[in-house]
Amino acid sequence: RIVYCAGQFVQEDQAHVSLFDRGFLFGDGVYEVTAVIGGRLIDNDLHLARFKRSLGELAIPMPASLEQIELLQQDLITKNGLTEGTVYLQATRGQADRDFLYPDGMQTTLVGFTQAKQLLGTKAQEEGIAVALAPDPRWARRDIKTVMLLGQVMAKRDARAAGFGDVWLTQEDHITEGASSTAYIVTGDNRILTRGNSRMILPGCTRQALLRLCDRHGLTFEERSFTQAEAESAVEAFQTSASSLVTPVIRIGDVVIGDGKPGPLTRLLQSYYLEAAGVTKAT
Ligand code: PLP
Repeated sequence: RIVYCAGQFVQEDQAHVSLFDRGFLFGDGVYEVTAVIGGRLIDNDLHLARFKRSLGELAIPMPASLEQIELLQQDLITKNGLTEGTVYLQATRGQADRDFLYPDGMQTTLVGFTQAKQLLGTKAQEEGIAVALAPDPRWARRDIKTVMLLGQVMAKRDARAAGFGDVWLTQEDHITEGASSTAYIVTGDNRILTRGNSRMILPGCTRQALLRLCDRHGLTFEERSFTQAEAESAVEAFQTSASSLVTPVIRIGDVVIGDGKPGPLTRLLQSYYLEAAGVTKAT
């Protein structure tokens, strides 16, 4: 695989970042994951805007313009012949002798790579998944997409060990979001609920794209937090992310949602999302 590492495209085994890079020592950096379908970046304007915002919140200088970064993403796709998968981008504050405080004039480290993987028609998208519930262990600035992901690593590991496909995080009886996704439920009167954006969750790009599609197609949604009990009595549930698109959730903890199969609104949203992404279904 050819990767991008601090100014150069190199074979992955030739890529090196300093031991003193603050991404490594402090988790002092941010990232983005954009889906690639048919060789094209999906919702990338939203991902680049969030990348810039995350860097701004941490006062890490932009390593290049958004136009240059998109060219870099496209170069990675071309050089690796990627048709379906993801492009990962990461910017860290750069290298300095270890100290909590950092000197002025640091140079941002920008790296990127592709991951080839199936995004369309996965088993999870077709059949739905069961999600565990676990207390949200994360810090108070979840709106910044930092590489500091240990809370998610631990929650996902525990959920996997307990036989679940993924995990939704809870705080004071409310669902915050999925460990690496936005969480949604559908109520008995066909309202789509998802938590409003705040510092409590990451503002999902797929969420933003999906809510626009709901508007366009006249589906009712409400941006408000919902409780665990509401989730358990929902008629449908699903989650979204760049790499998993729209994934039905058919069980939450021990509670089966609806009839235990992906619901009709979830199916509709899956097809609207794919249509907007330019995917035409083979018949
Ligand atoms: N919430 C969290 C905590 C995430 O890590 C992610 C994606 O990785 C999302 C939500 C979904 O965001 P997006 O749709 O931009 O991929």
